[in-house]
Parts: sequence; C-alpha cells; structure tokens
Amino acid sequence: MRVVLLGAPGAGKGTQCKYIAARYDLLHLSSGDILRRGRAEDTELGKQAQSYMDSGALVPDELIVEMMIDEIGKAPKGGFVLDGFPRTVNQAAELDKSLAEHGQTIDAVVNLKAGDEVVIKRITGRRSCPKCGAVYHIESLKPKVEGICDHDRAGLVQRPDDTVDVVRNRLRNYCEQTAPLVDYYRQKNNLHQLDADADAEIVREALFEKLDALVR
Ligand code: AMP
Repeated sequence: MRVVLLGAPGAGKGTQCKYIAARYDLLHLSSGDILRRGRAEDTELGKQAQSYMDSGALVPDELIVEMMIDEIGKAPKGGFVLDGFPRTVNQAAELDKSLAEHGQTIDAVVNLKAGDEVVIKRITGRRSCPKCGAVYHIESLKPKVEGICDHDRAGLVQRPDDTVDVVRNRLRNYCEQTAPLVDYYRQKNNLHQLDADADAEIVREALFEKLDALVR
C-alpha cells in the first residue's frame, strides 16, 4: 500500500505515520526527518536546506523531489507512507510521474485537519530526543523526568523551527503552498478527510478504520 498523509505542521502526521507504518508494515518516509539527518551529518543537501528550514520556508522543489524519489525507490514491495512530502502541487505531480514510470499510484491520501490554535499549542510544546528521535510534549506527553528522554536519558531539545514565530510562518506557507494539494488529490478520488483536533489515539482509530477498508 502507498499512502500519503497531508496536514498542517502539528496536525500529527509524524505520530500517525508511525502507527500506520507499524500496522501495515510500510516504510515511513518523513522528508523533514531526512533533511534533519542531512543537517546533522553535514551533507551538501543538509547545508542547502538549512536556511529555508530555520525560517519555516519550504525547501525548493528541485532539492526535495530528487531526494524523496530516491528514498521511495528504496522502499520494499509492501509500500510506504509519506510524511511531509509532497508539500506543493508540483511535488505531487512529480511524484505521480515517477510512480507511473513503475506502473504505480498512490492508494490513499489522508488529510489530517487540525485548527491553528491546536497545532500551535502542539508544536510549541513539542520536545524531542536528539539521540533517538522520541517525541514528547510539555503538557500532554511528559517524560518521566522533566527534560530527559525516557529511553536513553539524553536531554530533550526544542526544534529551532518549533518556536511561535517560525510556526506562524510555517502555517502561512502551508495555507499558500500545501493546502492546494487537497484539491489535487480530491480530483484523483483517493482523498480521505479526518478531524485531527482530537487526541492521537482517537485519530489513530479513525485512520485505521479507513485504511483497513482499503487492505481488506
Ligand atoms: P517537517 O518536519 O515535516 O515539519 O519539515 C521541517 C521543514 O523541512 C519544513 O518546514 C521545510 O523547511 C522542510 N521540508 C520538509 N519537507 C518538505 C517538502 N516536501 N518540501 C519543501 N520543504 C520541506
């Protein structure tokens, strides 16, 4: 199965993609995680992406498309779930073109819909472990010891683009550049809409219900 999760920053794409990947045995590909890894490893791509990411702007399509199509090419036969890609109509068209070359299509696109205030609260309270990538929240998903990862005791950090000002910029860019993708996929008849204001477990059950129907 090949799945795309859409949604504003903080809508819960990363969390839900982890659940989806585990349940349906899919490769989870997060464009943001791949870029952050590139930055940590000081790759050319990571360096080129840095200033865009820090200001909350989208990295240019020509950098992202090649990177993601490359990663998708390594996915096992079972399929993948895309998290954060595509983010522009042009990226989606390039993705479709590349899949079509292998006789493939996207089977399901799920749009996680969450209100601005909900996502701002989620993102600005988000903390993550620089070592293992585990994600926490200062109110709703606290580690056992404040500021320390439960798994490896590393100090938790806030992503530099998770501050209020950058988040507002990311949301603006989402509305302008990414929201038009909803119509793009609606026209392809594979779009599912899901209310994502609720807690992650509730969203997860609704999501599984939709995807279970596709794999049955
Ligand atoms: P994320 O972790 O998905 O919130 O992504 C973090 C940042 O990486 C975004 O704010 C963008 O700067 C960049 N990024 C991730 N995915 C894409 C994409 N598909 N197109 C352009 N920029 C992206």
